[in-house]
Amino acid sequence: MNPDVTRGLEPVLPSPVVELRDERLERHGVRVLVKRDDLIHPDVPGNKWRKLKYNLEVARERGFATLLTFGGAYSNHVRAVAAAGRALGFATVGVIRGEERLPLNPSLEFAVRQGMRLTYMDRTTYRRKTDADVVAGLRERFGEFYLIPEGGSNALAVKGCAELPGEIDVDYDLVCCASGTGGTLAGIAAGLPDGKRALGFQVLKGGDFLSEEVRRLQREAYGNVGDNWSINADFHFGGYAKRTPELLAFIDDFRARHGIELDRIYTAKMMCGTFRLVETKQIPAGTTAIAIIAGLVPPRHPGAGVAVSR
Ligand SMILES: *Cc1c(COP(=O)(O)O)cnc(C)c1O
Repeated sequence: MNPDVTRGLEPVLPSPVVELRDERLERHGVRVLVKRDDLIHPDVPGNKWRKLKYNLEVARERGFATLLTFGGAYSNHVRAVAAAGRALGFATVGVIRGEERLPLNPSLEFAVRQGMRLTYMDRTTYRRKTDADVVAGLRERFGEFYLIPEGGSNALAVKGCAELPGEIDVDYDLVCCASGTGGTLAGIAAGLPDGKRALGFQVLKGGDFLSEEVRRLQREAYGNVGDNWSINADFHFGGYAKRTPELLAFIDDFRARHGIELDRIYTAKMMCGTFRLVETKQIPAGTTAIAIIAGLVPPRHPGAGVAVSR
């Protein structure tokens, strides 16, 4: 990519790959290595960086001065766009689902400190946020902008995530990642060498929307859909941002064993799912899996119960 675009952000790439020493894996003859994408950048970590990279490049090339994106009040993506915009000299607008709540939560407060302008959109309008009339209304208020979709997942994001497998210089069979919108899974799968597979752990509950999204994103990015990926929907632990005592215990135990804090919205569900599939031999002996730690523990979510971070 144009080196000019990353100046001011300086991502740490390639992110490190580290093997987990864990008797729960060794007993079953499976190796799991973690790829520490959370270490790419403190404010634009992991898949958020990978998904933004080519979007930022295109926005710059086309002469846009402003980035606009969408998200919930606790969106890691909105936070990342604010930080990237600030570092690279773009103005940023965050369109937040629902009503304004003051004081701002730590994610939005951070975004505002990066210079992001926030605007709020009622849930009915938010559902059709990318319809032409809604976007035209936003252009009237904020001027020309480069639109990055909710969660950052589009064809350019998929191409950014497709670069991840090329950074892995050990032999492996399987890549495990957490899946929200599916952009990360779509890209990783597309970037895999022949014979290797990707497994996405769906963090939202219910529906078959995710495989449809992954197919749509791969089609949009490459014109075709691969068959080297699948989705496991058994480890959502109640749904988005929900968790159970089992999940919290897994996070505590993982921290004690490996010194790594797993975020409970995404990474912990993927990691716990991976270990359970090893224990039930659905990931068979002899497998080497790469588990992607794609992001940081987000700021505490008030009202969401026990905080496991900070
Ligand atoms: C945003 C995020 C995801 C979800 O990625 P998608 O491309 O939306 O599937 C997974 N893990 C972490 C840590 C994230 O921040």
